[in-house]
Amino acid sequence: MVVDPLCPLCGESDECTLHMLVKCREAKMIWYISPLRLEVERYDGETFHDWCCSVRKIFKEVAWWDIFWSIAWGVWLKRNRWCFEGKRYEMSEVIHRAVGIVGEFEQAQAISNINPPPPAFDVSWKPPMEGVIKINSDAAVFSPSGVGLGGVMHDYVGDVVVSTCLKLEGKFEVDVVEALAMRHALNI
Ligand SMILES: [Zn+2]
Repeated sequence: MVVDPLCPLCGESDECTLHMLVKCREAKMIWYISPLRLEVERYDGETFHDWCCSVRKIFKEVAWWDIFWSIAWGVWLKRNRWCFEGKRYEMSEVIHRAVGIVGEFEQAQAISNINPPPPAFDVSWKPPMEGVIKINSDAAVFSPSGVGLGGVMHDYVGDVVVSTCLKLEGKFEVDVVEALAMRHALNI
């Protein structure tokens, strides 16, 4: 397969990781006008890894490092949007989003420290115990009017014993339709 190695954004150099994320014209500008104020040329390295290590020596704070990766991710998304959708993200947009994401993450961390998350419920379906039939029901709302009610009954092996569906005319609230579906299944 013939692959064009040239950078699709600037066409001035081969598109290695370092070029794509750091050295390409707009990427370089994004790093510079970002809150990190990184002058790409001041850091050295032949690879993206080297370049990160060189930056790491200067920015030791975790918060800066979060922004660093968020911007790198933004540059990557900008590149993909251009390559695959032919659309542009403005440089300022990339920076705003990158910094915003870090802010949101910090806020979420602060909230989750105050309110520990509730224990997770096991939502995977399990068959009932022996001698018991488990009923699952659901409803669908059709426009402009009309609803569908459905129910399935399983035995303890997990085999379907009965299934049912019913169409009704009329408009109902969502929770009412769900209740109707359960009542229909229980009647059957
Ligand atoms: Zn380029």
